[in-house]
Amino acid sequence: MITEDDCAWMREAIALARQKGTDPADTPIAAIIVLDGRRLAASVNQTEELKDATAHAEVMAIRSAGPEYGDMDLRGATLYSTLQPCGMCTMASIWAKIGRIVFGAGRHDVHSMYFEDRHLDSMDFIRDAWREDLVIEGDCLAEDCARLYYRPGDDVPSEEQGNI
Ligand SMILES: [Zn+2]
Repeated sequence: MITEDDCAWMREAIALARQKGTDPADTPIAAIIVLDGRRLAASVNQTEELKDATAHAEVMAIRSAGPEYGDMDLRGATLYSTLQPCGMCTMASIWAKIGRIVFGAGRHDVHSMYFEDRHLDSMDFIRDAWREDLVIEGDCLAEDCARLYYRPGDDVPSEEQGNI
């Protein structure tokens, strides 16, 4: 269940994403990892900046959260992301033992360019994981988050579509 605390963290993530710019071409995607009310990490997508295709906001946050916490096992932590995590970030969250993923805009709220596969949904990865204690919830300020991105009907130049 999405709580008022979740919305507060998501508002922080949206503000962080907007620091990258307000044009969807700026990849304004942000993620925050919180454990026991403490912010362990906050990151934005840095793929262009680092010339690293794996530098998604969630992966960058996981990379920072481990050293900050002193353990790669982030059991009990919540990962907030302005956009539904892609397959890579969902898998990274499972390996990092994130306890709960809360996202804003879902894959059907945005252009398909944000996802690497046609039909597989990160929700399915979560359902199929060995972990029984992993929760994923969407629709947290979904409309506010979706406004950051290209929408399903938008005509996006193919050179901006990183998934093709
Ligand atoms: Zn990702």
